[in-house]
Amino acid sequence: MNERKSTIVNIGSLSIGGPNPIAIQSMTTTDTRNVKDTVAQIRRLENAGCQIVRVAVPDVEAAKAIGSIKKQISIPLVADIHFDYNLALIAMQEGIDKLRINPGNIGSRKRVQMVTEMAKEKNIPIRIGVNAGSLDHRILEHFGGATAEALVESALEHVRLLEADNFDQIVLSLKASSLDVMVEAYRQISSKVPYPLHLGVTEAGNHEIGTLKSAIGIGALLLDGIGDTIRVSLTADPVLEIEAGKKILRVLGLLKDRIQIISCPTCGRCQIDLIELARQIENNLISKEKNLTVAIMGCAVNGPGEAREADIGIAGGKGCALLFKKGQVIRKIPENRIVEELLEEIDNF
Ligand code: SF4
Repeated sequence: MNERKSTIVNIGSLSIGGPNPIAIQSMTTTDTRNVKDTVAQIRRLENAGCQIVRVAVPDVEAAKAIGSIKKQISIPLVADIHFDYNLALIAMQEGIDKLRINPGNIGSRKRVQMVTEMAKEKNIPIRIGVNAGSLDHRILEHFGGATAEALVESALEHVRLLEADNFDQIVLSLKASSLDVMVEAYRQISSKVPYPLHLGVTEAGNHEIGTLKSAIGIGALLLDGIGDTIRVSLTADPVLEIEAGKKILRVLGLLKDRIQIISCPTCGRCQIDLIELARQIENNLISKEKNLTVAIMGCAVNGPGEAREADIGIAGGKGCALLFKKGQVIRKIPENRIVEELLEEIDNF
C-alpha cells in the first residue's frame, strides 16, 4: 500500500488525515429538527462503531437543533448545508464540529469570508463535497459531462475560495455513482492537494449492491493509499453503513484490532455443515476487537495447509473438526461443539 500523506484535520475530539487510522462515518436519516429521534439514531450509530456523523441542515430550525443534539451524543457532528451561509453560521454557534458546505455555492465573497472567519475562530473544519449529480452547468459544458476531470476542477475551484481566506482546515470528497469516474477523480485530486479525503460512492444502492459497489470503489482507493475517512452510502438503515464500512476495513487489514477470517468455499470433500458453522462463527466474531487470523476450512486434505498462516482454526472431518493453533493440531472437536470451542479458544488466545 502506497500511503498518501495528507494534512491532519481535527473534527472535535477526532483527528483525521496524516498517520491517523481511517475513520468510518455515516449520515442520519431522521428529520434533524426531531432531536429525540436524531439522537436515538446517532446513539445506535455510535454503538455500531460510527466515528463521525452528519446531519442534514435544511433550515434554521434544524441548525438550532444542533446544540441539543450535541449535548446528547459523544461522536463528532457534521452539518450538511447547501447554499445558505447563514445556516453555517448558526450551526457553528450551536457547536457543530465540522461543516460540509461548498463555498462556491453560497454567494458573495463576503459570505464566504464570514463562514471562514468563524470557522477559523472556532477551529471548525470544512468539507467540500463535490457530487457528480450537482456540478455547475459551466463545468459540465466545459468538460462535456460529469467526468473525473470535471469533479476535480469543481473541487479545486471551491478549494481556491477557502485558500484565498487562508483557510486550510479542509477535507474533500468527490463522489459519483459511477465507479470509474469516482476512482479516477480521487486519484487525480490526491496528487493536487494535501488535504484529507473522504471517500464514498454516492447513491450506491441498496444494502447488498451498495456494499459491493462501495467496497470496490473505496477499496481500490484505499489500496492505493488514498483516503482518510469513508462512508458506505446505502438505501438502508444507516447502521448497516457502519457494518459495511468496518467489513471493508477489516478485509483490507485497516482496522487496528480486527479478526481476519479465512474460510474455504467447501467442495465434495467437506463432511460437516461448514457454511452454517462459518456463518455462526463470523457473526460471533464481528464485534470482537482482537488482532488475529481465524481459518475455517472444510477438510483435513487442504485445511491444515491452507490455514498454516492462521493463528487459530478448524479443519473439518467426518462429523468433527481438528482444531489448529499456529498450524499445529491441538485436538478433535465433535461437530456440535465446534462453534463454542473455537470461540472459547479465540477468547483465550
Ligand atoms: S479445504 Fe477441503 S473442503 Fe474446503 S475447498 Fe479445500 S478441499 Fe474442499
